Amino acid sequence: MEHVLGGGDAFVLLPTGGGKSLCYQIPSIVREGVGLVVSPLIALMDDQVGALRQHGVRASAWHSGLSAKDAYRLERELEEGKIEIVYVSPERLFSDRFRELAPRLKLSVVAIDEAHCVSHWGHDFRPEYLQLGELGKLFPGVPRMALTATADIPTREEILDKLGLRQAKVFVRSFARPNLNLRIGSKNEPRKQLLEFIRREHNGESGIVYRQSRAEVEKTAEFLKAQGVRAIPYHAGLTPNVRREAQQSFLRDEGVVVVATIAFGMGIDKPDVRFVAHLDLPRSIEAYVQETGRAGRDGLPSDGWMVYGFQDIAVARSMIQNSEAPEERKRVELAKLNQLLGLCETAQCREQSVLTYFGESGAKPCGRCDNCAEPPVTWDGTQAAQKALSAVARTGERFGASHLVDILLGEATEKVVKFTHDKLPTFGVGKDIPKTEWMAIFRQLASLDLVGVNLAEHGQVVLTPGSWEVLRGKRTVALRRMEPKVRRKVAKVLTGDQPADPGLFQSLRALRRELALEQGVPPFVVFSDKSLLDMVRIRPSDELEFSQVHGVGGTKARRYGEKFLEAIRAG
Ligand code: ZN
Repeated sequence: MEHVLGGGDAFVLLPTGGGKSLCYQIPSIVREGVGLVVSPLIALMDDQVGALRQHGVRASAWHSGLSAKDAYRLERELEEGKIEIVYVSPERLFSDRFRELAPRLKLSVVAIDEAHCVSHWGHDFRPEYLQLGELGKLFPGVPRMALTATADIPTREEILDKLGLRQAKVFVRSFARPNLNLRIGSKNEPRKQLLEFIRREHNGESGIVYRQSRAEVEKTAEFLKAQGVRAIPYHAGLTPNVRREAQQSFLRDEGVVVVATIAFGMGIDKPDVRFVAHLDLPRSIEAYVQETGRAGRDGLPSDGWMVYGFQDIAVARSMIQNSEAPEERKRVELAKLNQLLGLCETAQCREQSVLTYFGESGAKPCGRCDNCAEPPVTWDGTQAAQKALSAVARTGERFGASHLVDILLGEATEKVVKFTHDKLPTFGVGKDIPKTEWMAIFRQLASLDLVGVNLAEHGQVVLTPGSWEVLRGKRTVALRRMEPKVRRKVAKVLTGDQPADPGLFQSLRALRRELALEQGVPPFVVFSDKSLLDMVRIRPSDELEFSQVHGVGGTKARRYGEKFLEAIRAG
């Protein structure tokens, strides 16, 4: 902020919930003129504008959702310098109207949010972002900022190039999220595993569940609903109205779980999401970090929970291979997927692995993730891998993993007998290892690219060049033992998050809800859970003490102080 206040350009890389918006909001307000913020999603803009207005800031959003009349009024207000911050969509920014208006505007700062959208190497490429490099010419002398919560090193370089920010000072903060608890485990019965996780750890709390396909979104939401969870489906195939309602309900009601494709989330700024669950693989470590990063923005303990299986790896690989993308792009995507699989299979601390990926060296193990809480046992799986691969070879690379496991376990199923696989030398050679462990071995072999899968042929497991190295004894295979630990409750590390007086906390929540409904805003816009917890702890008795509460500024103290003080006095 100091750097930008002094007129300098900046590239800002901060993790989700790291205060990214404040970095441009404060210079916008302090410097003379209006702060221009480019943001890709209307929902995000409206949320930020709503929150700023609550704090008494003159903020507005300029996007295609405005009526002609409102757009005209906003233009007038901008020219007259009555606005402190204006959020603009990239499309709107390069409209004729805007170009006409631009020379008459006095800007304090130009901020480009979600700057990774300009990069082909990033995971949210948006062609309209490429034009944003022109902003420097359009507004010479105005400090410019590019901000993102997710960018590996090649993506960072591309942002600086494409936005003409080579001279900008670079600010990077650690991606460590001390309140986020990462867990990655094997997928057996995904919907049941999810239900158990929600019931055991997040009953009645808000969360997001990511699934790859629309059909899975619908099925998973139906299943949860039937089990009494307030689940809502969200995907691009629903009408805009239904999607808007889902989003509103997620923001305004408490305890809603949205089951969604990745179409959901980018524009959602809800601080009290208590968990993000992946029942399918994300596309890359960046996508994983961005998606799980939507949990716990308020700093309270939250979970990033994921399960994945053998089939998922095959599906993810083939989706990339069969896509329309150019070969170059496919190579990048496959490399990113492999890095993600490396994170899934690692025996190292999850957070440490993520930080290393983002170029942060020297991070210590987090002490919270599944691998820290219960370090996985690694073992020399070379012989087991040879058994598995030989089963693949001897059956002519024509069968799926579960049939191969039946052969290894010596189970004379109908199919095994039909193909006389009970006569193979590999029949029953793997009895010393349980079935779930064999499935985990096949999954690990797939993620190491030591087997391939032919999806077009019902998931036939096939050999790869690496398989032959293992079979010929030229390569060893280290595997990790699968524990069902993804189901185990990991102790929440941050203590003091439970309200000292649960009854008072509930009555403050009810008051917050009432005030939010009156104004048609989400409850957390009035006060965050953290503020309410702080009120319970401090028990302020007058407005001065009230203004000491976390997240309470002058405007909010005046607007809400009296009502909350009354509720606190009433106990
Ligand atoms: Zn850890």
